[in-house]
Amino acid sequence: MACILPDGRGVAPVPKQARLSGIKSLRCYTKAEAAALVGVSTRTIGNWTRDGLPLLDATYPPLIRGDDLRDYITAQRADRKVKTDLCEFYCLRCRKGRAPAAEMADCKVEGKKAMLTALCSVCEGVVCKPISLARLTEVRAKLDLTITRVEVTL
Ligand SMILES: [Zn+2]
Repeated sequence: MACILPDGRGVAPVPKQARLSGIKSLRCYTKAEAAALVGVSTRTIGNWTRDGLPLLDATYPPLIRGDDLRDYITAQRADRKVKTDLCEFYCLRCRKGRAPAAEMADCKVEGKKAMLTALCSVCEGVVCKPISLARLTEVRAKLDLTITRVEVTL
């Protein structure tokens, strides 16, 4: 049996074993089909649609596009990865957390936000992620940052 989350616990995290391989981009799935395909409960899929996974509700039953489903899971994983290692970037091309090439990154500070941009140490693709200014000192201790301040003008 699929496990059912008690109500009010928020969005269930994407399980590590969630399967992406069977998802066909151009197909649409019902919640039950998507749940079976990915290996989670139908209720979890329902939570994801409330959290931002697009649901085509002009149809009955409402359908989820395969590419939306895959993007949602990939994005959730990326979020989690970023949280686990401050100086790692999620590389879309490698689909993995990667260290920045030469331990260098550009840092654009705008108001209270900072955006880090670097090159993936493996495939040299551009990787980026936002960080909070509070953590900038920590990042600076580990990476060679080129900091630019962007003046916020209205
Ligand atoms: Zn890469």
